[in-house]
Amino acid sequence: MANKMLLRSSIEAATWPAVLTDKAAKVMAVQQQLGESQWWPPARMRAAQFEQLRPLVEFAMGHVPFYAERLQAAGLRPGVPLTEAMWDAVPVSTRRAVRDAGEALHPPGYPLAHGNYGLVTTGGSTGVPVRVRKSELAQLMWECSHIRERLWAAEGTDGTLVRFWQSNPNYFTPLGYEAVLSAEGLVLDGWGGVDELLWQTGKVAHMSDHQPFAVKFAFMQRVQANHLLIFPSNLRLLIGEFRRAGVRLPSLKSVWTQSELVDDALRDACREVLGCEIIDTYSAAETGFMALQCPEARQYHIQAETMLVEVLDADGRACAPGEVGRVVVTPLHNYATPLLRYEVGDEAELGGPCSCGRGLGVLKRIVGRAHDYLHLPSGGRRRANLNVYQMAKIEAVAEYQIVQRALDRIELRLVMAEPLTAETRAAIHALAVTGFGSEFAIDITVQDSLPRTASGKLLAFVSALPAAVET
Ligand SMILES: [Zn+2]
Repeated sequence: MANKMLLRSSIEAATWPAVLTDKAAKVMAVQQQLGESQWWPPARMRAAQFEQLRPLVEFAMGHVPFYAERLQAAGLRPGVPLTEAMWDAVPVSTRRAVRDAGEALHPPGYPLAHGNYGLVTTGGSTGVPVRVRKSELAQLMWECSHIRERLWAAEGTDGTLVRFWQSNPNYFTPLGYEAVLSAEGLVLDGWGGVDELLWQTGKVAHMSDHQPFAVKFAFMQRVQANHLLIFPSNLRLLIGEFRRAGVRLPSLKSVWTQSELVDDALRDACREVLGCEIIDTYSAAETGFMALQCPEARQYHIQAETMLVEVLDADGRACAPGEVGRVVVTPLHNYATPLLRYEVGDEAELGGPCSCGRGLGVLKRIVGRAHDYLHLPSGGRRRANLNVYQMAKIEAVAEYQIVQRALDRIELRLVMAEPLTAETRAAIHALAVTGFGSEFAIDITVQDSLPRTASGKLLAFVSALPAAVET
């Protein structure tokens, strides 16, 4: 590892403000612990998780109105230490319940040592937007998992990272954002974030995923892309384009994905056409990293040090290895908005012990994170992406669903928490035009409720196109 990742020089680090050196030191100290705990047997990890869980539950019972009621009703009492049986009685919190709880979800205060908090808004893979507060401590643990991912993947940080995405103007200067949207793209000197705090990194190159393939390919060649960060649905389209064009990109060493379903077919196609492996993670903005891909297998290891992850069947019982169930998570460090047994909206297949020897639990695959595609009037396809982060900021929207009605028409169905004003309608329309493109007519309709799948999931996107167009 050390020979592939260049540590920052101590002279340079000595000139940093204390807040950065302090953060780098904390991340590395936690990393030291994670390096050991990943090998613990499951029973030892479970005991350690309950040591974290007890004070969190006690805190939620005393300070979070939403949970005080639920925990008391489940028979938990302040001062009585949490047992496995008591935990099993805690009801699962659905996304909708968490969304509707509003202010009752937040404690009036939390331990000062956990730092300030920021607001996180997200729709995940579902059409139910939630808003949580995330403390600096929870953010630090998020970054520790990210660094663990880098160490596990052992790809180094010295190469050029290309990022194709529906970029957010808030991340860039106005000029920079213009460049991201253009055929030139935007190339910056460092990867940024916690990577740059710990290592010398290569360049990062941003481009909008709306650019045509020829432009993307020329960009990747020009910057000599070594790593690609991309949504799986966009990767699937990109691989198809590479295959049709019959071109290769020898500089590429790895492809990093997040947020959506990665299946074996996509992994195999990536290896065949792009000549490298996919490294995938499983995270949600409101919870943090739930699982990281094993360094030695295609399955995922639960991040048990920071997150209690349960896979439950329709009756709420724990699934056995090989069974698919609902993913229910409890982030162990976020006291700014505690989430206890939170149904994140995905399903996963639980796995058995991993051949790598790590004691961390295994998810063999995550299901239900697939994004479908919009079919474009001009031919071709595009990821059906309403900017969920922006959408989740509109508090009046309780649920939403995107329906492609025709090749040039999209219906955006809304369930409102409060009446839809002309101003909110205009803001939502503007988001839809940015997300889908101006070639679509967009109808915004207000519904009393939205249909669920048999397992109760609200799909954020549905295609109502005839099957002939779909295939
Ligand atoms: Zn493993």
